[in-house]
Amino acid sequence: MKQIQRLILLAVFMLGSLMLEQTVASAEALRIVASLPALGQIAQGVAGEFAEVKVLAQVGQDPHFVPPKPTLARHLARADLLIAAGLGLEIGWLPPLIEASRNDAIHSGGKGYLDGRYVLTKVLGKPQGKITRELGDIHPEGNPHWWMDPINGVRLAQVIAERLSQLDPTHADAYRQHATSFAKQINAHMPAWKASLQAMSPFVAYHDSYLYLTQRFGLSVSDFVEPKPGIEPSTSHLDALVASIPKNHVQGIWLEPYHDGSTARKLCKLAHTPCKLMPDAVNGEGFAGYISMFDLLAKGGQ
Ligand SMILES: [Zn+2]
Repeated sequence: MKQIQRLILLAVFMLGSLMLEQTVASAEALRIVASLPALGQIAQGVAGEFAEVKVLAQVGQDPHFVPPKPTLARHLARADLLIAAGLGLEIGWLPPLIEASRNDAIHSGGKGYLDGRYVLTKVLGKPQGKITRELGDIHPEGNPHWWMDPINGVRLAQVIAERLSQLDPTHADAYRQHATSFAKQINAHMPAWKASLQAMSPFVAYHDSYLYLTQRFGLSVSDFVEPKPGIEPSTSHLDALVASIPKNHVQGIWLEPYHDGSTARKLCKLAHTPCKLMPDAVNGEGFAGYISMFDLLAKGGQ
């Protein structure tokens, strides 16, 4: 009899610990990895307390070239969802990390993968004619800097909310509410951002990082320091810019922190126009971090 009691007790204990394990597993937060800081901020805003977000590139780092360290592959190995800019932006570093992570869910086309193709209704800046990466254009699939349009940021939040609702239906309402609240916050800022940015137009851009921003706010880029995306300027190209900048009433030269500051500074001095550090990411948490990037751009950057 005692033997049976002991067996029943053991069964109850095992069942209890099994149930406990299940509760712990379901309470475990989703793991999201974003390739870039701005994408991670939007993901964190949508997910709130229900996910842990890791970001691969750092603020100030060139998103085209991130050193693919083993720690980054380890983050990917544990990810339920990977969010990337896509359109070839991270082609030099993200695919090998995904491969190294051995995580099938986050491969392109998997249920744990999202990029610009799921967000954009139209890809801007597709090169005309036969232009390949080998000929020097690093963006043959079109311009991948789409998160620089805050309305694309809103769309990304909606896409993330839907994907998180599939991965974690329990919190679907919260994800959708967060995305809706983000849309309201962005819309409230748009008129002031537009007025400030328009006062800084036309401008010369170092790299074509601002195409989606200029289209959204009706700005004009009169020229590029890079003759093609990813190609450093020749002396004759720089001479031509020095001549055309005053004629085009250029209000400044916009560059990212990772561009060649000495070339830009020389050019700004010769052409008598201000150099403006206009970053594609700033430090900050969640939606507020992403919004503060546009606040900074609207102030003329730094
Ligand atoms: Zn680029």
